[in-house]
Amino acid sequence: MLNLKLKDLYSAFRDPKTIRALAGEINKEALKLKEPLYIMEVCGGHTHTIMKYGLKQLLPRSIEFIHGPGCPVCIMPKERIDHAIALANVENAILLTLGDMIRVPGSKTSLAEERSHGCDIRALYSPVDAIKVAEENPDKKVIFFAIGFETTTPMTAALLQMVEKKKLTNLYFHINHVLVPPAIEAIMQDGQAKINAFIGPSHVSVISGAKIYLPLPEKYNTPVSVSGFEPVDVMQAILMIVKQKNENRAEVEIQYSRAVSLEGNTKAQKLIEHYMQPRGHFRWRGIGDIADSALELREQYSKYDAEKVFADILPTEPIDDHKLCICGTILKGLAKPNDCKVFGTACTPKTPLGSCMVSSEGACNAYYRFGEI
Ligand code: SF4
Ligand code: SF4
Repeated sequence: MLNLKLKDLYSAFRDPKTIRALAGEINKEALKLKEPLYIMEVCGGHTHTIMKYGLKQLLPRSIEFIHGPGCPVCIMPKERIDHAIALANVENAILLTLGDMIRVPGSKTSLAEERSHGCDIRALYSPVDAIKVAEENPDKKVIFFAIGFETTTPMTAALLQMVEKKKLTNLYFHINHVLVPPAIEAIMQDGQAKINAFIGPSHVSVISGAKIYLPLPEKYNTPVSVSGFEPVDVMQAILMIVKQKNENRAEVEIQYSRAVSLEGNTKAQKLIEHYMQPRGHFRWRGIGDIADSALELREQYSKYDAEKVFADILPTEPIDDHKLCICGTILKGLAKPNDCKVFGTACTPKTPLGSCMVSSEGACNAYYRFGEI
């Protein structure tokens, strides 16, 4: 019988010898670069791999990472967090959300603080648990504050399907699902960030396909590598990008061919389309309003839509960040966490002033935990 341990499955992708060999290749290839390479790793998961495994230190000076806006907690503007807080205070409500969201500061308080004052706020490990909570509490209004990029959206859509099948009437959805391509497009259109290549997150493309990045090389001449999250994956993706540059190519390549295809998971895409549609605009922390950059429930599912059902108690004004916090500038690729005056002093994971320090995928959190103080 095959006796595999979890470690056996990932150890090859963390092998120091392979990482060093790839670093050697990258350094050799980088000698031929005609210009410095500014690679935006769109996803906070990649930022963490880069920091945790010290990949930055293995690369030549001609390659710099620009940290991107790919963390759903980091990009959530304060007014949406205030929505969650208002919903948690609805009489007889149970508010459900995913982990880190609970600690992010809103304009005056956080979900964690509201919980300590008696609100019923629960962290979900899997969105499907929302069904269980709704079934066990038929006399309560159970509100799921759904966050995430293309990766987690199918789970919310599947949840809606289950709610319909089970004819549940006490589970509502506050949808905060955002989309990667419009945010990257907004950053590129803004033109201030120095970016000439991208590492795209593999799990987003497992769902949406690598095709979502095709406009980038066409419009901006930027190579893209859709990469896995292990250090060997990331180093291989960088090597692919350097080679593209040296060969004067700008294409979308798939490093994570273990699970990513050009088309993605069409079944999941259809399920999302069935329940959701692009919303006119969504405000991203630091980046501002971006058209069609998020999803909302379709009109026919309004009875599940917490933004409609509880519209009269939800704040509508945009709210700016703490004046010392430069999360927005970081998310646009214009600054690094250690450019922030309060990084590691007034702002730490225990006393976060901004979302990038709270989220386990935030750039400030990665710099703090893995030694850039
Ligand atoms: S949601 Fe996915 S794409 Fe976004 S930061 Fe987290 S791991 Fe990366
Ligand atoms: S260190 Fe804190 S205050 Fe500064 S940008 Fe990061 S999250 Fe914001």
